[in-house]
Amino acid sequence: MARIAFIGLGNMGGPMAANLVKAGHDVLGFDLAAPVLKAAEQSGVKPASHASQAVKDAEIVISMLPQGRHVLTAWTDILQTAAQDTLVIDCSTIDVESSRKAHEMAKAASCLSLDAPVSGGTGGASAGTLTFMAGGSAEAFAKAKPILEAMGKKIVHCGEAGAGQAAKICNNMILGISMIGVCEGFVLAEKLGLSHQALFDVASTSSGQCWAINSYCPVPGPVPTSPANNGYKPGFAAALMLKDLRLSQEAALASGASTPLGAEAAQLFALFEKLGNGGRDFSAIIEMFREKA
Ligand code: NAD
Repeated sequence: MARIAFIGLGNMGGPMAANLVKAGHDVLGFDLAAPVLKAAEQSGVKPASHASQAVKDAEIVISMLPQGRHVLTAWTDILQTAAQDTLVIDCSTIDVESSRKAHEMAKAASCLSLDAPVSGGTGGASAGTLTFMAGGSAEAFAKAKPILEAMGKKIVHCGEAGAGQAAKICNNMILGISMIGVCEGFVLAEKLGLSHQALFDVASTSSGQCWAINSYCPVPGPVPTSPANNGYKPGFAAALMLKDLRLSQEAALASGASTPLGAEAAQLFALFEKLGNGGRDFSAIIEMFREKA
């Protein structure tokens, strides 16, 4: 079993660290927020008074932080203390540029590194069923895989440094666009007097099918587990979808990719958030289209 330092024990990091403890690892944790650190202690994470205390003697360090700037700050501290050959894994969703910079910092400190953002949300973090999309060397991936398996059910090596972040933002851009498309389909169906169930029965088994309709239908009824049946309680909060769409647009701009629907989706989710919906599930955006109509 490994000695692991876990930096950032919030909504995602807390349950992920708890699953590492359950798998028998020795987990030292650090978070800037004292109540968050205290909550992690309840699940068997040993609290550290600062990041370097957690990292000292760790074989593996995992970070799960809000944005690129937090990761670069934390990794600066981590890499000052980490022994050579320590594997440092960032599971946060951040911009590809910061991710690649973090890999370079790790290389300069003679540490192994992996970007390994996740999909599956807080439910997947608690259940240990996350999907990890990883970027980094084959050596770093091989060393990380058994550790990530304690927190997830699918671990994909996407390529070199930053490839995990690239896969995450491309996937979530597709999701943001497809959810808007599905919502528009249901709003049009309502105007045409077509029932939700009838549209679902047809589209979910024909060429309109996609995850946004088949597994996460934005109207109550057809898919009983979707947030639409639960007052649009997240699930996946609209603010996080907006964050990922913005990251996709930054990456599109930097790389010269043309993503007009991604840009439109980012604008629509920005408006939805501005209207006070950032904390609701992202599929609630259907209400904005109904109101617009
Ligand atoms: P969160 O805000 O609940 O947790 C982040 C934690 O990091 C906070 O507790 C904060 O105090 C801590 N922190 C910030 N800077 C720090 C530092 N320098 N050292 C130590 N601790 C520090 O956020 P979250 O929902 O857990 O999300 C974490 C990451 O996971 C984000 O990048 C997010 O985009 C991604 N993500 C979230 C979800 C989700 O459903 N919540 C799903 C997939 C991916």
